Amino acid sequence: LFTREFASSLKIYGNEFCIRVINSKQQQQKSAMPSITINRDLLNRYESSIEYLRADAPESVDTSKPSAESVPVFGGKYDAMLGCDRWRVNVDGQYGHVSLVDVMPRMVPAGKTADFAIVQAARVSYGKGTKSVSEDRGLVRYLMRHLHTSPVEHCEIKLHCKMPMFVARQWIRHRTANVNEYSARYSEMKDEFYVPGTVSDVRMQSTTNRQGSETNKYVEHDVAANFITDARDLSFTAFNRYMEALEGGVSREQARMVLPVNIMTEWYWKIDLHNLFHFLALRMDAHAQHEMQQYALAVYAIVKQLFPVACEAFEDYRIGSVTLTRLEVEALRESIKQKQVGFGGISNARERAEWEHKAVQILRLDENQQ
Ligand SMILES: Cc1cc2nc3c(=O)[nH]c(=O)nc-3n(C[C@H](O)[C@H](O)[C@H](O)COP(=O)(O)OP(=O)(O)OC[C@H]3O[C@@H](n4cnc5c(N)ncnc54)[C@H](O)[C@@H]3O)c2cc1C
Repeated sequence: LFTREFASSLKIYGNEFCIRVINSKQQQQKSAMPSITINRDLLNRYESSIEYLRADAPESVDTSKPSAESVPVFGGKYDAMLGCDRWRVNVDGQYGHVSLVDVMPRMVPAGKTADFAIVQAARVSYGKGTKSVSEDRGLVRYLMRHLHTSPVEHCEIKLHCKMPMFVARQWIRHRTANVNEYSARYSEMKDEFYVPGTVSDVRMQSTTNRQGSETNKYVEHDVAANFITDARDLSFTAFNRYMEALEGGVSREQARMVLPVNIMTEWYWKIDLHNLFHFLALRMDAHAQHEMQQYALAVYAIVKQLFPVACEAFEDYRIGSVTLTRLEVEALRESIKQKQVGFGGISNARERAEWEHKAVQILRLDENQQ
């Protein structure tokens, strides 16, 4: 069913099969393209798979997307969550999810988006004054461009998230959020574990980044398959020992120590938009662990629906921007003059490699020709 443009491989293992599709033309062009920090394919997938769950939904949930025009307006305002109890994005196809349970502002003037709270806060100095949507957009962009971020803190989201413990460990490092997590001292853990779905989800250790993995290189099929089987079997073996310990009278707070880091945990997480952008910039980035990136992209899919103007500015001025050191500015001048990457006074090998990567993005030079 694939055209000749696609190289495809179909692998069957046990009850699972995976299809790997590589667009060979894109692969060839990849080296000439600037790196794109946001994984657009994944983001689009999450955006299109937001489930809008209504408070009074019957057993079968209505997942059709309500729109701002279709919800009632009270006193000139409509509900930013479009009359829904929660917006849910499933993340790993297993137990993981990110669900919006509340947003501030919740009530939004008809014809505007929740971004209006940013300009509302920013304009306090000048008195109320009704402004047009385009003037509001210009102000949001100005504030974001000039790092005048306190008005952005006047927007907040509250999420209910479920993720593997090893993702939560990275996520919790962001100290500016308010968190309340499931307590394994108070309650029994559930036998819910994250295990890579297919062999193509098992990534190779990166040779260039000691912390990272290779996204386009895969470990040998049998090695990956054995790893998945082991991860699943060992998780349930550990869970059985955990249950035996509880049944034997061991306290919940101690018994949990035999459980692996792929067990699922959950929390409520509340954060303002400014600090959320910082979290997203770090965790949607290609340097973040792939599993963590997936959660960050799911959060961003929700945030984009609520705050499209601020997100546009975030992409333009933060995600799509490149920060240069003084040495890099000098090297850039030299590069423009020579029409190829020059290194000016950059002598440190690591700095040279970092600059080369940025230069390729800025000058759109082919990395292979350097
Ligand atoms: C790719 C990647 C790899 C990482 N690798 C490691 C690792 O190997 N080991 C490890 O331990 N961590 C690691 N981290 C975590 C990282 O060091 C940060 O702790 C984490 O990203 C949170 O960043 P933050 O402190 O800027 O964010 P937040 O905690 O969300 O804080 C936001 C901002 O608020 C300010 N702030 C908050 N609290 C304080 C404070 N107490 N004092 C001063 N300013 C404050 C800072 O300006 C901060 O940038 C990694 C993170 C990433 C993205």
